[in-house]
Amino acid sequence: MNVLVINCGSSSLKYQLINSDTENVLAKGLCERIGIDGRLVYQKAGLDKEITEADMPTHKQAIQMVLDALVNEKTGAIASLAEIDAVGHRVVHGGEKFAASTILTDEVLAAIEECNDLAPLHNPANLIGINACKELMPNTPMVGVFDTAFHQTMPKKAYLYGIPYEYYEKYKVRRYGFHGTSHSFVSKRCAEFLGMDINHSKIIVAHLGNGASVSAVKDGKCVDTSMGLTPLEGLVMGTRSGDLDPSILEFIAQKENLTLPEVMDILNKKSGVQGMSRVSSDFRDLEAAYDEGNELAINACEVFAYRVAKYIGSYVAAMNGVDAIAFTAGIGENTSFIRAMILEYLGYLGITMDAEANKARGVDTIISTPDSKVKVCIIPTNEELAICRETVALL
Ligand code: ADP
Repeated sequence: MNVLVINCGSSSLKYQLINSDTENVLAKGLCERIGIDGRLVYQKAGLDKEITEADMPTHKQAIQMVLDALVNEKTGAIASLAEIDAVGHRVVHGGEKFAASTILTDEVLAAIEECNDLAPLHNPANLIGINACKELMPNTPMVGVFDTAFHQTMPKKAYLYGIPYEYYEKYKVRRYGFHGTSHSFVSKRCAEFLGMDINHSKIIVAHLGNGASVSAVKDGKCVDTSMGLTPLEGLVMGTRSGDLDPSILEFIAQKENLTLPEVMDILNKKSGVQGMSRVSSDFRDLEAAYDEGNELAINACEVFAYRVAKYIGSYVAAMNGVDAIAFTAGIGENTSFIRAMILEYLGYLGITMDAEANKARGVDTIISTPDSKVKVCIIPTNEELAICRETVALL
């Protein structure tokens, strides 16, 4: 089967065409600046990237360009659109309605729309992408894979906030968690890689990218995760603050004469390691600044690592133990000095880092010493492949 995986944002759209039998990527790329001017990046496996500047006033036109590129006579990956057997869509927020991937019927689309309030930046964009694909490929089955679904197994004690219960009853204000596709994929792969039975395992996944979250996965099911109602809660991230005292919102608003939406914008886009360091949200820049002795960059890296270590500790408590810790995503897979900083806090678990193994990047690797009581590893995530697998499993 060939599955087209689509991750549609408000002005961009990432895609991959995957053969689900071989799990090879046949072609991939992205559309950028949709509705502004437009740029298509397309890469067939084994060939160089092609970049085309072209007007893309709407998502439908962007997807049409992707489909044209996929069937292009010279550089296309397939001969006709009939070779696309299904489309798997990433959907950010499924609220409490979706605990698993689902075929995108009209009723399901209406239910996703009802979750728009919970993810106003993401869900409407996801829906636009789905509707555009449905118009262009009316007979191709479409599947929605939700970032929140994997976390729906969290118990009430993990997802309820300490606020009046009526806000949960009226508006479903609770913790949902995100990056679920990645946490699910990585926890399964971690168990497989370490030869563990996932049904009798306690795994902590640290998905450390621009957006970052930690999850506690017991017997293959998520029991807690660090993001909440929105992806702002939890770890200190590239530009997001993560956990803080809610009083800070009012305090900054008053001192700086800002509105609540303006303060929220600062917490989402100007905080995190970027706001703390004044250097960058990118850990490659931060590592260079750290090595030069830049004090603010050092603070930012230390705060980032400390927060991750504290979350890991709390999830050891939540599961009454841990068998394995898996690092994944851009920073988790590539940034050894941050992994080392985090592992320095975890000696009490009987973990010793293998410094040589910790130099690895982007490959499944055990980075704890053989005598460590808890196995620590790098497990590269692959959300597109996970979406492809979910799509095939459903169909
Ligand atoms: P997201 O998908 O949330 O945008 P990523 O998972 O791509 O984020 O992670 C981005 C982070 O990973 C950046 O801080 C970047 O510095 C870090 N990183 C470090 N080394 C690499 C690398 N070789 N390739 C990609 N990202 C890297």
